[in-house]
Amino acid sequence: MQAINAKYKLGQEVWKINWCNPPTWETCYTCNGSKFVHIKETNKQISCPDCRGEGGRSVFLSSRWKAGSKLTIGKIQIEQFDPIYSDNKNRVTYMCKETGIGTGSVHDQNQLFASLEAAEREVKKRNKTLEKEG
Ligand SMILES: [Zn+2]
Repeated sequence: MQAINAKYKLGQEVWKINWCNPPTWETCYTCNGSKFVHIKETNKQISCPDCRGEGGRSVFLSSRWKAGSKLTIGKIQIEQFDPIYSDNKNRVTYMCKETGIGTGSVHDQNQLFASLEAAEREVKKRNKTLEKEG
């Protein structure tokens, strides 16, 4: 059986890409963002009942990939399964100095890149795929 190898070495600097879901501000249709509605009969302004005077709301529409921070590999974890137990579950994960070694975040190899340029290229590629799908 072929051994799986880690792509990155201990001490190597890598760039992580993250799946982000930044909120998008959606302007309230009732008050058009002014936060008030005008009552014609009484000629009064009241706080908009639809947005409760906020002028809009945060919506989560555009999940996308984003190039994140630089990390330094501090621990390599290779998980390899005998194919009779599990297919395609093999994975290489890393723990990094910046996010904790031993306890902390575990980073998947397919979200780490050797340079910021490579990370940004991958982000572009993955987001383009999203646009096609969505
Ligand atoms: Zn409103």
